[in-house]
Amino acid sequence: MPVILKTRGELRAFTAATRREGRRIALVPTMGALHQGHMELVRQALARAEVCIVSIFVNPTQFGPNEDFAAYPRTWEADLAALTPAGAQAVYHPPAGEMYPEGFATKISVAGVSSGLCGAVRPGHFDGVATVVAKLLLQALPDVALFGEKDWQQLQVIRHMKADLDIPVDIIGVPTLRDENGLALSSRNAYLSPEQYKIAARLNKILFATAEKLKTGDIAAAESWARQEVLAAGFDSADYIEVRDAATLGPPGHGPLRILAAVRLGRARLIDNIAADAILVT
Ligand code: AMP
Repeated sequence: MPVILKTRGELRAFTAATRREGRRIALVPTMGALHQGHMELVRQALARAEVCIVSIFVNPTQFGPNEDFAAYPRTWEADLAALTPAGAQAVYHPPAGEMYPEGFATKISVAGVSSGLCGAVRPGHFDGVATVVAKLLLQALPDVALFGEKDWQQLQVIRHMKADLDIPVDIIGVPTLRDENGLALSSRNAYLSPEQYKIAARLNKILFATAEKLKTGDIAAAESWARQEVLAAGFDSADYIEVRDAATLGPPGHGPLRILAAVRLGRARLIDNIAADAILVT
C-alpha cells in the first residue's frame, strides 16, 4: 500500500528522505480514475527510478466553465487498490486548497505550442495544465516525470515549459496504451454507452487509415477524408483532425508529423493521435 501524502510538507519530507537514501524519484501526475494507461506510466517510472510517486489531483484550473470538472470520475479507493500491486511507493493527493491557497495569482502560459488544436477549443486549458505541472514538479523535485503520448499536445507543452524554465527533470513520453479494439484508454471512456463504445473504437482505425493516405503526400486530402470518415462512423462532430509538425504542432515542416484528433460523442470528448510518415510531394 503506497504512503498517502496530503500536503506539500508531507511530500517534501518523503522526497527528502528518499533522496538522503540515494534513491531516484519518478513522478507520475494524474487526475485519478486510474486505468492500465496510467499503470503503464508507473511501470515505466519504476524502470527509471527506485521510487514512484503518483499524484492524483483533479485540477480545477484546466477545466473550462462548461466542462466536466464536477462530473469527472473520482475513484479513490479503486485507484489506491490498483497502485498497491503496481509498486508505487507514494500517492500525493492534495486538496484543492493545498494547491491553490487563497491569493494564488500565478499562471504559466506556454505560447505557440498551446495555442492550436485543443488549446483553440479549450481556452486556458494548457495554462491550467502547465501551471499545475510546474507546481507538482517544484513540489516533488523528481529526477524524472512521465506523461502519456495520448495527450500529445500536453506532452509538447510540458517539454517546452521544462526547457524554457530550466526545470531539472527528465520528461519521458510513454506510448499510448490501447484496448483490444485499439481505443486509447482514457478515464473519460467511462462516459461511453456500449453503442457509443463501438463508434469510439473506430477513431484509431480512421487515424491509421489517414496515415496510409498521407503516404501519397496530399495532406489536405487526407485530413478532409478523415473528417468525413469520422462523421460517417457516427461521431457527433470533430473539433479537429489535423496533420501537424510533431514537436511544434505548427504546420507540417521538415520534421516528423503527427495526426491529431479530438471528436465528440454524446457526453464524451475523445482525443487520439498517431505518428505519420508522409512522403511530402513539394
Ligand atoms: P489523466 O489522469 O487523464 O490526466 O492522465 C494522466 C497521465 O496519464 C497523462 O500523462 C496522460 O497522458 C497519461 N495517459 C492517459 N491515458 C493514457 C493511455 N491510454 N496511454 C498512456 N498514457 C496515458
